[in-house]
Amino acid sequence: MNTKRFYDYNTFLREKFGEKVYKISLDAGFTCPNRDGSKGTMGCIYCNNESFSPAHRFPKEDLEKQILQGMEVGKRFKANRFLAYFQAFSNTYAEVSALEKLYKKALQFPDVVGIVIGTRPDVVDLEKLQMLEHLAKQTFVSIEYGVQSICDETLRQINRGHTYQSFLQAMEWSKGKGIHICAHIMLGFPGEAKGQIVQTAKEMNRVGIDGVKLHNLLVVKDTQLANLYKQNPFPLLGFEEYIMIACDFLENLSPNIVVERLHANAPPDYLIAPHWNKSPSQIVDSIVAELKKRESWQGKSQCP
Ligand code: SF4
Repeated sequence: MNTKRFYDYNTFLREKFGEKVYKISLDAGFTCPNRDGSKGTMGCIYCNNESFSPAHRFPKEDLEKQILQGMEVGKRFKANRFLAYFQAFSNTYAEVSALEKLYKKALQFPDVVGIVIGTRPDVVDLEKLQMLEHLAKQTFVSIEYGVQSICDETLRQINRGHTYQSFLQAMEWSKGKGIHICAHIMLGFPGEAKGQIVQTAKEMNRVGIDGVKLHNLLVVKDTQLANLYKQNPFPLLGFEEYIMIACDFLENLSPNIVVERLHANAPPDYLIAPHWNKSPSQIVDSIVAELKKRESWQGKSQCP
């Protein structure tokens, strides 16, 4: 285990590529079935897609231009290799031939060493994953599934429009194909008990995920959650509470699973609550400090 006491994404990328790799966030013009009417029109109750990473994305431009712009930014961070991150909305929500063409467009850049595809578990099928399996024989391919919760009642409350079984099915199709599989998990739903958090980590171990991204629940503007919060402000996790549950999660997570993210961010002009007034590095440092205080690390609970 490194000095951070968890298996962080930068370590994974350096192990894999032997150098710093910069992830370029892309908006390829997709929508999602929870917005276009196939599953619903309102979206997940917490979703304002613009708030996810507006500062780092170059929307409305063609893909090549977004990649070139992203490379310029990455070079300022001293990176010479890049991952094309199809981030906005559901990036497998099209016919397989159109998807293949799109992904190959990003891979035509010699310095793009792989693709990362963010999507919902109910927007993949075997044919799409076989196409990704084929690509994964030539380059790095990662798929990020928005799982959010392993509890169907929570998924219903947040209006995800799919069940946990959708993720289990997507995992079955995805595994064994040379694809790096990551799950987005949200921590801090009102009423979520510590036991559920530990159970979620153990479930990620059981299903054989390769990476996780943790997000604390944020209320951002122009969402259903913002309306609910305005009508009846409900308790959100405080900073210290989040540090504790993130550590509980990590202690129960297999040490081989890459922790690709430890908390959510929203730009100040989007964020309604909670206001922790902590920088991303302060949050990560506090998690590391708490693990140190506990004389603990990722996967400690699995030790005999
Ligand atoms: S979070 Fe993802 S799946 Fe949910 S509404 Fe937003 S884009 Fe769609």
